[in-house]
Amino acid sequence: MIDLRSDTVTKPTAAMRAAMAEAAVGDDVYGEDPTVNLLQSTVADLLGKEAALYVTSGTQSNLCALMSHCERGDEYIVGNHAHCYIYEAGGAAVLGSIQPQPVPIGEDGMIDLDAAADAVKRHDHHFARTRLLCLENTIDGKVLSLEQMRASAEVASRHALAHHLDGARMWNAAVALGVAPAEVASHFDSVSVCLSKGLGAPMGSLLVGSADLIDKAHKWRKMLGGGLRQVGVVAAAGLYAVSHHIERLADDHNKAARLAKGLKAIQGVTIESCSTNMVFIHLDKQVLHPQSDPQNDLRERNVISEWHGPRCRLVTHLGISDTDIDTAVSAFADLIATQ
Ligand SMILES: *Cc1c(COP(=O)(O)O)cnc(C)c1O
Repeated sequence: MIDLRSDTVTKPTAAMRAAMAEAAVGDDVYGEDPTVNLLQSTVADLLGKEAALYVTSGTQSNLCALMSHCERGDEYIVGNHAHCYIYEAGGAAVLGSIQPQPVPIGEDGMIDLDAAADAVKRHDHHFARTRLLCLENTIDGKVLSLEQMRASAEVASRHALAHHLDGARMWNAAVALGVAPAEVASHFDSVSVCLSKGLGAPMGSLLVGSADLIDKAHKWRKMLGGGLRQVGVVAAAGLYAVSHHIERLADDHNKAARLAKGLKAIQGVTIESCSTNMVFIHLDKQVLHPQSDPQNDLRERNVISEWHGPRCRLVTHLGISDTDIDTAVSAFADLIATQ
């Protein structure tokens, strides 16, 4: 099966599993897991920050960041379809007593910085205290430029806000921009990165920032149930991933471009966007039979995809070869030919 739903469906490679089998471990609640400690210092160095914290998921990482930057009754400014606003079950509000202030996101994935600046509340007992500005890069596969991140950092600094990057896929952004991950991270006080997406590890994220911020986040991680024991077994997969799977993301980007090119040639397929490892498409009304179920029809042709009506997101990753891309394009052509 060719699974194009997400880059989270990757399985650990043989070399990654070997690294896991050999990992030195200890009790990480005592800070004694050497593999976790090495992963944390490696990723902190890679992003040019003082410290990093290994956490169970991107959601836990963003929540630890929000709770470390903000206090009860504070507010964070965030894009209106950003992950850490709508896809994290309202954790900031529920568990952090932190109010989100959403602002519009443009076609290019960038938040409206004028709206963000306007949303900053003045000091007044009626208002929540605005403390933090959040960006997401990549967002829907789209890359925010260094200029956009710099401009956002300026708005944050002008209003004395902390600046957080939800960088679940910031590795893809750095590769697409042709810069070191630290250059992306340099515009932020904290960055959350995922190991379990394009990098192909089975689990885990890291929150990076100043030693002081990570110290606060450490306590929140414990409270959120994220204190783990001999977790070097999986941290080893993450360490392997950051050492071997960052540069290869360019292959995923090339495969997404190959997929978009192949699909574009099929009558009735419209490419909405193709950036980094994601292709968004829709099928034109006239080619799709009203009773048809493209998700199921593609599965019968060995392609797993996720549809919302006529729209579909396709994601490339390390489990996908050029041949798989060509097979997927043929499956789409066949799907439409048999409507
Ligand atoms: C996947 C994702 C997360 C959350 O990561 P989980 O590990 O699934 O909790 C956060 N932000 C963005 C942008 C993501 O894509």
